[in-house]
This record gives sequence, C-alpha cells and structure tokens, in this order.
Amino acid sequence: MTVHDVAVIGAGPAGLAAALTLAEGGARVVVLERSESFRDMPGEHLGPAALPVLARLGWTPRAPGAVPLSAIVSHWREGPPVRQEALFDPYGLGFAIERTTLLSDLAARAGTAGAALRFGSTARGISGRPGDWHITCDSGDVTAGTIFDASGRARRVARALGAAAGAADDLICHHRVLAGADAGAVELVLE
Ligand SMILES: Cc1cc2nc3c(=O)[nH]c(=O)nc-3n(C[C@H](O)[C@H](O)[C@H](O)COP(=O)(O)OP(=O)(O)OC[C@H]3O[C@@H](n4cnc5c(N)ncnc54)[C@H](O)[C@@H]3O)c2cc1C
Repeated sequence: MTVHDVAVIGAGPAGLAAALTLAEGGARVVVLERSESFRDMPGEHLGPAALPVLARLGWTPRAPGAVPLSAIVSHWREGPPVRQEALFDPYGLGFAIERTTLLSDLAARAGTAGAALRFGSTARGISGRPGDWHITCDSGDVTAGTIFDASGRARRVARALGAAAGAADDLICHHRVLAGADAGAVELVLE
C-alpha cells in the first residue's frame, strides 16, 4: 500500500489542476482515474474567466488545437438569441479547445511536479477519518491524509460519506461535432 498526502479522485480539469497545484506546493499526490486514457469528451468551450486561472497553472490555449471565439450566442427557450461579444468581456476571448490537449498538458505538468497519475484506477470504497483515509482501488489500495473529490458528477467521495444529491433544474444536453469551421470568426452557439 502506498501512502500519500493527498489522493485526488478523478483526472478531469479540476483534479489535474488540484494535483498540479498541490504537487508544486510539495505535497505527495496521487491521482486516481478510472478511464484508461484521456479521451475526447463533449465540453470544449473554455470560458474567458477560466483563462487567468489556467495561466497561473502555466497553461494557455495555443493553435492549432485552440480556436478563439468572438462571441457566445445563447438561445434559451423563448425570445431572441442573446449575444455576448468577447469585446465586452473583461477577460476577453473564450476558446474552443481540444479537451484531451488541456488534460494531457496539465497531467504532464503535474507529473513533472511529482504527482503520480494512475489510469484504470477506479476508487471503489472509502473508509477512515480525516488525516487517515483508505481508498480501495482497482490498481492497488491507497492511504492518504486528505482526499480531493474531483470525480465530477460521480461525486464519489460525497456519496461514500453519505451525502445526497438534489436536482436543481431539468436541463438536458445534446451535443454535436460540426466539421469545417472557419477559424477566422468562430462563435459558440448554445441552444
Ligand atoms: C455534454 C456536456 C457539455 C459540456 N460542455 C462544457 C463546456 O463547453 N465548457 C465547460 O467549461 N464545461 C462544459 N461541461 C461541463 C464539464 O463537464 C465540466 O466543465 C468539466 O468536465 C468538469 O470538470 P471536472 O474535473 O470537475 O469533472 P470531469 O471532467 O467530469 O472529471 C471527473 C473525472 O473523474 C473520473 N472518475 C469518476 N469517478 C471516479 C472514480 N470512482 N474513480 C476514479 N476516477 C473517477 C472520471 O472518469 C473523470 O475523468 C459540459 C458537460 C457536458 C455533460
């Protein structure tokens, strides 16, 4: 069994950002990710407000994977579309990015800082108490002083500790990948 200061469950943007920050601060970090590798997922829009946060982690969008978005056009229920021009956003342009590029870059930086990333590692059970947590995991059990729950909607830790979830609304999502965007003036359209 391996002992760590922090076990991060989930290698999405939140988990990797946390792992990188903690490892750079000197913590012994392990990231447990149930997938076998980073894979393409919906969710490629990087809002402008995220950019300063990612820049602090040493990451900036870059071509060819990142395309600047000049506006976000939202169609919600009734009424005309709402346009948010990047020009009027204090953080400037958002970007359409390749999620796998963002994740791979953050993972590489976290690894350089000393964090261990374990793919194919589903956290299946959590026991213990603050300062001495035990995680049952496919790739070998882990002991850590702190658990950082970055398991996304799975909310692995919260559920293991008995927290219930409540639905806030009835949003659904349908996504589609379109080919042939002109990189000159790309807008994100939400419907
Ligand atoms: C269809 C869709 C479109 C979206 N579009 C956008 C968008 O354009 N822009 C945007 O900012 N956000 C978008 N989102 C929201 C997006 O999901 C979040 O921004 C982002 O993925 C949240 O990051 P996260 O790291 O918290 O969680 P996630 O990205 O969900 O990462 C959680 C990770 O935990 C892992 N995991 C879960 N359970 C376990 C376990 N037991 N053991 C080990 N690993 C585990 C999962 O495999 C996953 O890799 C979209 C969401 C959906 C569903």
